[in-house]
Amino acid sequence: MGDNVVVSNMELERLLSMKGGKGEASYANNSQAQAIHAKSMLHLLKEALDKVELHDPNIPFVVVDLGCSCGSNTINVVDVIIKHIIKRYEALGFNPPEFSAFFSDLPSNDFNTLFQLLPPLANYGVSMEECLAANNTRSYFAAGVPGSFYRRLFPARSVDVFHSAFSLHWLSQVPESVQDKRSNAYNKGRVFIHGASDMTTNAYKKQFQRDLAGFLSSRSAEMKSKGSMFLVCLGRTSVDPTDQGGAGLLFGTHFQDAWDDLVQEGLISTEKRDSFNIPIYAPTLQDFKEVVEADGSFSINKLEVVKGGSPLVVNQPDDASEVGRVLANSCRSVSGVLVDAHIGDKLSEELFLRVEKRGTNHGKELLEKLQLFHIVASLSLV
Ligand code: SAH
Repeated sequence: MGDNVVVSNMELERLLSMKGGKGEASYANNSQAQAIHAKSMLHLLKEALDKVELHDPNIPFVVVDLGCSCGSNTINVVDVIIKHIIKRYEALGFNPPEFSAFFSDLPSNDFNTLFQLLPPLANYGVSMEECLAANNTRSYFAAGVPGSFYRRLFPARSVDVFHSAFSLHWLSQVPESVQDKRSNAYNKGRVFIHGASDMTTNAYKKQFQRDLAGFLSSRSAEMKSKGSMFLVCLGRTSVDPTDQGGAGLLFGTHFQDAWDDLVQEGLISTEKRDSFNIPIYAPTLQDFKEVVEADGSFSINKLEVVKGGSPLVVNQPDDASEVGRVLANSCRSVSGVLVDAHIGDKLSEELFLRVEKRGTNHGKELLEKLQLFHIVASLSLV
């Protein structure tokens, strides 16, 4: 992608991915915070798994992770899910079934890196030496599924468990009105909705709800009867959508200021900045619940907001420059691909250098204030 490529809405789906590979700003190397948050919610995940109806062990059991990305988090969570289900079969005195695990994300996701992280398949044609040499083995057949989770991805009635973590806050597109200069919802001066106008944030909220509706209706078709779904996404506690909480601090303060720096230094035009928008919406519990209820196919086992902690994993909290670096790498691992496409690699580099500098100048404050909340939903097909 060269300079000055304007990302149209249709392209977002084709383009969006977390930063692939294993480099410094890759998602694989910047997702420890998500790993910590996921770990703190394992008891909720297991409760959700206890709701799944176990079927004839002669039929394969199918687990899907949606928005899997390319780090080890998805592999770890699939492992937890399958081990828990095996335990449930064994507790009933049955041999467990064979398992299929589908790792699904948008087509630009770095599936190669993900597949290389998969441990060898135990029991099926892999030698004992290979199993012993690996730290771990897996007890499921794996496959990757490219496509948007806002549409159908699997055959009807084929999936027992859907899992999705830290993904559903990504919208399918930046709402058109937000990018239309003639519209009252045009997000002038900003690259995120934190601190934006009510018109802009309402357009985002509507987009979020439309997207979630598409997600739920697709999953309700794909899930086997009595299947279960465990969803975690960014959420917020403030009713005011212009206050996006932790996501707001991540993309509405130093990241925003860094874009303003590029404008002030004459490196990009105001228009170039204003036409970039982070397609993320952190919903309230109510925003989320309205859609689940309107869809009507799922019973709610649990729907709550949980405090997730900081998105920054910093080894030396007293070292402000490390805080700045971690902030810049975290922002870059999730938004870097979009930024590169919008202003080109060179200016993107300049932008994240400024994020780092600003983060370094506010290191202490960032560690104190940057706090994420998550919506956690455990849903069963009625
Ligand atoms: N679940 C992983 C990764 C979360 S990152 C973890 O726990 O670490 C969010 C992921 O959601 C990204 O990989 C992104 O590409 C994916 N995503 C965003 N919108 C999506 C969509 N419409 N369909 C499928 N995946 C999507």
